[in-house]
Amino acid sequence: MKKQAGADFPPAGEGILIEGARLRGKNTDILVDSEGRISGTGAGIGKTARRSAVAWIDGRGCIAIPGLVNTHTHAAMALLRGYADDMPLQEWLTTKIWPLEAHLAGKDVYQGTRLACLEMIRSGTTAFNDMYFFMEDAARAVAEMGIRATLAYGFIDLGDPERREKEIRATGRFVSAVKGMANPLVRPAVGPHAVYTVSPDGLRWCGEFAREEGIGIHVHLAETSQEVQDCVTATGRRPAAHLDACGCLAERTVAAHGCWLDREECALLAARGVSVSHNPASNMKLAVGRAMPYPWLREAGVNVTLGTDGCASNNSLDLFRAMKEAALLQKFAWNDPTLLPAPEAVSLATSAGARALGIPSGRIEVGAPADIVLVGMKGPAMTPLFSEESDLVYSATGSSVDTVICNGKVLMLHGEVPGEEEILASAARSAAALVRRSGAPS
Ligand SMILES: [Zn+2]
Repeated sequence: MKKQAGADFPPAGEGILIEGARLRGKNTDILVDSEGRISGTGAGIGKTARRSAVAWIDGRGCIAIPGLVNTHTHAAMALLRGYADDMPLQEWLTTKIWPLEAHLAGKDVYQGTRLACLEMIRSGTTAFNDMYFFMEDAARAVAEMGIRATLAYGFIDLGDPERREKEIRATGRFVSAVKGMANPLVRPAVGPHAVYTVSPDGLRWCGEFAREEGIGIHVHLAETSQEVQDCVTATGRRPAAHLDACGCLAERTVAAHGCWLDREECALLAARGVSVSHNPASNMKLAVGRAMPYPWLREAGVNVTLGTDGCASNNSLDLFRAMKEAALLQKFAWNDPTLLPAPEAVSLATSAGARALGIPSGRIEVGAPADIVLVGMKGPAMTPLFSEESDLVYSATGSSVDTVICNGKVLMLHGEVPGEEEILASAARSAAALVRRSGAPS
């Protein structure tokens, strides 16, 4: 059979056999059924399966890990990669990012999201949590690329009742559009941007609407000390308590950053079952002044996950890098080399991320959806392989990824993603046209 990665491989009605991959230290065959679920794992089970009509993938020389989950990004910002760097946050936003974003159109978001999905697939990410604008176009891109995503329209009312009504309508429209797609890989969430951009009335509406619709909430939380001070001045409460008072903290809430949380807020997030997304590269690049208090969150029992943030503030969507950055930043910030060890970093990027988004992946076990990444172990980064997890976190990068399967579909096979050249060329054209339209010097 001719092997062709992409949303149509394997053909409908067929499963996959991955033969000879290393899983939890042993050479193992992995069977995926035609529904996209893992139906068997074990040494030698491929011998019988090979005879039935299944697509075959040579897994020898590769380690099988669950697909990685990026719990905070703004995918379409991949178009802005490298456009403005090394600047103070306010100046960066007001002179560079916002003027360009004012000229964004749906077609840019479509191209940027495709570019982001391509980068995520190439670096082993099979699910992500997104917040941005023109999200119907993002949803279309995600569906074409075959990856999982939870998508939220970024709700920003800046205290203006008229704008609030507009954002309420936009959120409602988007949520019903995604539900109407009936694509099990693409899910809607509600995206109140942050306590400093959404009024208490706006936040209360978001919390209520998410409950009614049975969907998650994606919000920025305690990213800077200014956010905390302003929130206390305006409401008498710190940001987590304020979100809670407005009904935005729930089990399906993912709060990004959390750098300036205090211990009481960590306990509150744990009590509400909120997941926190750690974005070490973005926090260091924008110099937010404090590392997320991982020891407090862990002690409180919060589900901590990993994110990259958007490409304007990272500038990479490679979660292998994020695992290393998180482990190093936490050790450095808390002066403790035992903090966030490699196996924990892997679980933040896999099982914890899947739990945050309410998807049953994040594990390679019978019955789980086949979100599987094969990482090549032949190169220098994985040699001599004393510890798979140490190598995955500290020496591998996304470029070590060989093959990516999401929900039983092969999205990258031995380094090949179908249509890659066209996606890259269209995204580059779209980015150049956006800068031209904005009138900024390119
Ligand atoms: Zn963000």
